[in-house]
Amino acid sequence: MSVFSHPEFDAHEQVAFRYDRASGLKAIIAVHSTRLGKGLGGCRMWPYASDAEALTDVLRLSRGMTYKAALAGLPQGGGKSVIIGDPRHDKTPALIQAMGRFVDSLGGQYVVAEDSGTSVADIRLMATETRHVGGLADEKSVAAGRTGDPSPATAMGTFIGIKAAVKAKFGRDDLKGLKVAIQGVGNVGGRLAQHLHAAGAKLWVTDLHQPAVERCVRELGAAAVPMEAVHSLDVDVYAPCALGAILNDRTIPEIRAKVIAGAANNQLAKPKHDHALLERGILYAPDYVINAGGIIDIFYEGPNYDEATVHAHLERIGHTLSQIFEYSAREKRPTGEIADRMAEAIFRG
Ligand code: NAD
Repeated sequence: MSVFSHPEFDAHEQVAFRYDRASGLKAIIAVHSTRLGKGLGGCRMWPYASDAEALTDVLRLSRGMTYKAALAGLPQGGGKSVIIGDPRHDKTPALIQAMGRFVDSLGGQYVVAEDSGTSVADIRLMATETRHVGGLADEKSVAAGRTGDPSPATAMGTFIGIKAAVKAKFGRDDLKGLKVAIQGVGNVGGRLAQHLHAAGAKLWVTDLHQPAVERCVRELGAAAVPMEAVHSLDVDVYAPCALGAILNDRTIPEIRAKVIAGAANNQLAKPKHDHALLERGILYAPDYVINAGGIIDIFYEGPNYDEATVHAHLERIGHTLSQIFEYSAREKRPTGEIADRMAEAIFRG
């Protein structure tokens, strides 16, 4: 298993491996860049089929965090960590604490937050071993009803991003009667549905989890659609808010929406699919730009958390996307490529 010559290595500053015999922890921390600040990123726990698969994932995710933080205008770098194991069977307090000590051993180069397979409670436990944790609401915030869950901010940022995309594609400032299909109405997609409904949009929704769909039907007048049909509906906006790689060779020719703008991570199956969307005249809001609300929220988490400040920062997602759309139209280059170049200009200086 190579590291420096790994296809996803991309000049990572640091890649650290840890095995803790007592707890059975096997983990990797990757820090892509600290040029703008500490490398912030979630800790994913997943039963990877191999060490090589875990390394590929952590390198790809950590690099993505650098780009996301740069375009979100945060003084932060990019990092990520993975624990190799099944969160349902292998997670123990000792293992999580060992992960906290691993994070601490990097001396603040990496700041850990929650991700798939880890919870706010896990990060709290890591915090008994290290102060380099992010996304934890302090006691005052908890008392005020805040949980540290970044989903509401991600949903609001995505809503703001959809408005920017609609303005760019259709020249409209309002969403009244706009047809939106949402794939996945979980923590983010469910809240996004509420914002869109309040703004007058008509909704089509789908989810693996039927109660989540039924709630949108009941409370927001949404139409339920089959999972396999959601990307091909005759709507204005397709908002992927579930899984990645949904923009691929099979789905792109079937998409009828003129705008794709949703919170899911890694929506493009391959970078070339960015070009395919441009060729089909579909405006794609790059996923890591539109879904940056969560890391923006985590950045402000702490005793001085102020909702108005966070909201003002979330509004910048709309401005950044408008800029990306403008450059893309002018240069006839895909939006994802434009976003990457803009991010690199920021974090490479
Ligand atoms: P979630 O697990 O709460 O919601 C995802 C929903 O998608 C679930 O209800 C699930 O049942 C559904 N789903 C899964 N597979 C599906 C399928 N094939 N078709 C339809 N629905 C399906 O997760 P979330 O926190 O809402 O995150 C949604 C997406 O946004 C993920 O890709 C996540 O990585 C990304 N994201 C989330 C945040 C955040 O703050 N939570 C931040 C940035 C990006």
